[in-house]
Amino acid sequence: MTPRALVVGASHAGAQVAAGLRQHKWDGDIVLIGDEAALPYQRPPLSKAYLAGDMAVDALAIRGADFYAKQEITRRDGAVESIDRAAQQVELADGARLRYDRIALCTGARPRRLNAPGEDLEGVFYLRTSADVEAIRVAARTGGRAVIVGGGYVGLETAASLRKLGLEVIVLEAAERVLGRVTAPQVSAFYTRVHAEEGVEIRTGAAVEAFAGDRRVQEVVLAGGERIAADFVIIGIGVLPNTDLATTAGIVVDDGVVIDDRARTSDPLITAAGDCASHDMARYGRRIRLESVPSAGEQAKAAAATMCGKTKEIAALPWFWSDQYDLKLQIAGLNHGYDEIVVSGDPTRDRAFTCYYLREGQLIAADCINRPRDFIFSKQTISSGKEVDRAELERTDSRVGSSR
Ligand SMILES: Cc1cc2nc3c(=O)[nH]c(=O)nc-3n(C[C@H](O)[C@H](O)[C@H](O)COP(=O)(O)OP(=O)(O)OC[C@H]3O[C@@H](n4cnc5c(N)ncnc54)[C@H](O)[C@@H]3O)c2cc1C
Repeated sequence: MTPRALVVGASHAGAQVAAGLRQHKWDGDIVLIGDEAALPYQRPPLSKAYLAGDMAVDALAIRGADFYAKQEITRRDGAVESIDRAAQQVELADGARLRYDRIALCTGARPRRLNAPGEDLEGVFYLRTSADVEAIRVAARTGGRAVIVGGGYVGLETAASLRKLGLEVIVLEAAERVLGRVTAPQVSAFYTRVHAEEGVEIRTGAAVEAFAGDRRVQEVVLAGGERIAADFVIIGIGVLPNTDLATTAGIVVDDGVVIDDRARTSDPLITAAGDCASHDMARYGRRIRLESVPSAGEQAKAAAATMCGKTKEIAALPWFWSDQYDLKLQIAGLNHGYDEIVVSGDPTRDRAFTCYYLREGQLIAADCINRPRDFIFSKQTISSGKEVDRAELERTDSRVGSSR
């Protein structure tokens, strides 16, 4: 019988696993199963160029339909509901059963729900899929005031895109600063300043308790009773990994499907990659679930190799990006546990600077805003573990010429 690889979830990780299987000469069927009826598409533009109307829907596709045809990758619409590991079969929502020799779980993540009263009113949105953005764009067409709940990257990018469309925008953040989970206070203050300059009102310490309106949302109610008028609302308060399939199949899950450096799960026939996976990272000495396109791609390449009986370890340094207005933020590494910050440039005045994160004198991460060379320098320095000279990091003129 022809060997068959099933890839469950057809987005960044799934598309890369399918392509990687052919690169590694998988000699058999590849079935890419996805429950969004579209070619695998890029998610990052959803809160950026695509929402702002600067990108056509066709440009979202990761690869054209001809790629999958040429590579003999069968795309199948539908949701996988269960995995029968003893019979080596999966069952889809329409009742079909497919046998498998290998599986890659690339089921990604879904928005974390606020679960506040009134959340099901018309005009309250989450932003994860292209369908979500279509609905938001319809709401944005009539202008008015958008209230964004959550001051993380997705919330702030959405604010910038909606400003570009001419809407009035308010961001409500429950914590004391935006991006509080992921950046230093200096970087949070920088984004707060820039958004204010661009006309976005950011309110911190603003916990949303409910949404009010008659069929359609009209107000956001804060803890304490204050009511904020809204024409529509977008909630962006993080995501949860889609792990039900793995859990019910008895695969080890701990805030994500647990994988090793070769994307192997607790079942030797099953790999996992992307937002649904929790990776035991030797570099950090602990398990981390990353939510980024580069990590999904890196893990997917390792998964494809493993499925073909080859070895490719997930080794690349994690990195991320965020685009807001004219600001291109590139982040190298993870800043968990930093004990010192060195800032190059003046975030209180400029629109280009770098915030370096050190632990015990070692560079562990950097947020580089409109400083692409600092980003390359940081990636190399962190990866090599080389000593850093604080004075060199601070010097604004050392790489500043490269900043745009
Ligand atoms: C608005 C937005 C902006 C972002 N911006 C950036 C950015 O600037 N940079 C960056 O690096 N990252 C960004 N991200 C994060 C990035 O998009 C994710 O890290 C990436 O999409 C992860 O890819 P994935 O394939 O693991 O999962 P996902 O993209 O979540 O895809 C999983 C797919 O599997 C499907 N699925 C789930 N369960 C099943 C099932 N049982 N059967 C069949 N199909 C199933 C899902 O419907 C989905 O289509 C952004 C995300 C969002 C939402």
